[in-house]
Amino acid sequence: MNYKKLSAAAVAAGLFATGYAFAQDAEIATWAGFRKGAVSFTFDDGAPSHVSDAAPLFDKYGYKGTFNLVVNWNPDWSGFGNMAKNGHEIASHSNSHGNNMSGEEASSKKNIEGHIQQKYGIITVAYPNCNVPNESAVLQNYIVGRICNGSWQGGSDDMGKDGPSNWAKVPAIMTGSQGTNDIQGPLKSTVNKGGWVAFLTHGFSGKNNGSATYSPTDLSTIEGALKYAKENDKDVWVAPMGHVAMYIKERKASKIEPQDGGAAGTMSFKLSHSIADNISKYDYPLSIRVKSDWSKVEVTQGEAKLESKVDGGYIYFDAVPNEGTIVVKNANAAPESSSSAEAPTSSSSEAAVSSSSETSAIHPSAFENRGIAAYVDNNGYITVQNAQGMKITVFNSLGNVVRTTKGIGCEQKVYTGAKGMYIVKIGNNAKAVNIK
Ligand SMILES: [Zn+2]
Repeated sequence: MNYKKLSAAAVAAGLFATGYAFAQDAEIATWAGFRKGAVSFTFDDGAPSHVSDAAPLFDKYGYKGTFNLVVNWNPDWSGFGNMAKNGHEIASHSNSHGNNMSGEEASSKKNIEGHIQQKYGIITVAYPNCNVPNESAVLQNYIVGRICNGSWQGGSDDMGKDGPSNWAKVPAIMTGSQGTNDIQGPLKSTVNKGGWVAFLTHGFSGKNNGSATYSPTDLSTIEGALKYAKENDKDVWVAPMGHVAMYIKERKASKIEPQDGGAAGTMSFKLSHSIADNISKYDYPLSIRVKSDWSKVEVTQGEAKLESKVDGGYIYFDAVPNEGTIVVKNANAAPESSSSAEAPTSSSSEAAVSSSSETSAIHPSAFENRGIAAYVDNNGYITVQNAQGMKITVFNSLGNVVRTTKGIGCEQKVYTGAKGMYIVKIGNNAKAVNIK
């Protein structure tokens, strides 16, 4: 009896003593944005319809896919190059599309990198005819080797939160006439289980597919899945295969630790992993949340200001592992200057986004020129002012482009979508706004 009482008291004392540390509890999300599950759409054979039809469809929903090219089939390098610039992943599907691509693991990567520039290089490969080549050559050159499956067998082909058992055998469910036309079924099932599912599509019914004539899929089937994902954005993370793989590998290897000695009204953290950068730099942003009762914060990592959100007793932000100390500052602790009249609903700080080569060039500025402004109106539309003739690009919190357009008129609604932080780039100016 006494022993039990004593031990309960000891536990209580321990909790009390660590109360401050408890307030600094930080956790890394299983999936970006603390969503429930992940899905990747991959496209094989470099069909012309991937440039002409898939890319605009994905852009419409603000999502990115993975496009596996066959070097010797003369893909539209310029079209796929533009897709890479826009955040899609270009990947390898061998040089020659022989029965087995053994011997082409390194050379196909190098050949595609000669045409396509993207932040992480060519880091995933899909095997022609689903035949696994030399596994060690695959894993020396790629972070993912993708196989395929003819159909969805009640969930046997999907993956849990830690990915596949073998990164040289990442499964994907084939769609179209030789596969399944049910994308939403496996997608919903996997997301509900907190896992990751990938789909493999060739060309599209009735479109210009070039050499990708096998197992055409109705474009409307893909659109139905993207629409479902968008409607369930808080649960479903859609991202290219290489990005999801990178996220899983980083998340499994990373830790976030409170740091001592920060200024009053701040919490400091170190986010780090020790994955070797032998194939790619593992610096895909991880989603973090910190338990806190602060209602307004500023989050920085090194020199960069990070987008952040306070919700339900947590502070949310995305940070890059091994990139300097993360400092969360209580923004209510110090007096602040009044916010710009041009951006009445944007209470959060401007942000530098580091997750893609396109956004890393942004230098946030005060939008001083010409009275240019960006804000979220009462109906949740990102709206710009005085941007006539200027290029307008909206990025989501992952740094992916969700809208590009040109400024017309003195006031213009440019985008609405899921809640969260966005970066609006107008010409060379950039501003963070928050759809609430
Ligand atoms: Zn193929």
